[in-house]
Amino acid sequence: MIKKVDHIGIAVRSLETALPFYTDVLKLPLLGIEEVESQKVKVAFLKAGETKLELLEPTSESSTIASFIEKRGEGIHHVALGVESIEARISEMKEQGIRMIDDQPRLGAGGAHIAFMHPKSTAGVLYELCEKKG
Ligand code: ZN
Repeated sequence: MIKKVDHIGIAVRSLETALPFYTDVLKLPLLGIEEVESQKVKVAFLKAGETKLELLEPTSESSTIASFIEKRGEGIHHVALGVESIEARISEMKEQGIRMIDDQPRLGAGGAHIAFMHPKSTAGVLYELCEKKG
């Protein structure tokens, strides 16, 4: 049911400060920068071969990314698993006793439909189910 690791989400204080490492040192192509208002983040996607890196900069102190950085510092925030039929996948997870942060998919960067699993159900990893539409 999991197609691949779609992307790895990385929390950063500032895209401007963090990006040169990715674009100039690692020489990863920048796919685009986008603000996701509902999640109070500015997001940069970089292509890393078959998968992507998603840099997340908080645009407000009330952003969950801002509180993540405050508690744990910058670094890996989540792993996104590419799926099809995300509603069905969410139901399967819940049937197997997995706690979901999102019972319904919501809109993420790039118009993807996303739902997070609770790290208490996944041995400490924040996993995002991610379905690309269209
Ligand atoms: Zn993500």
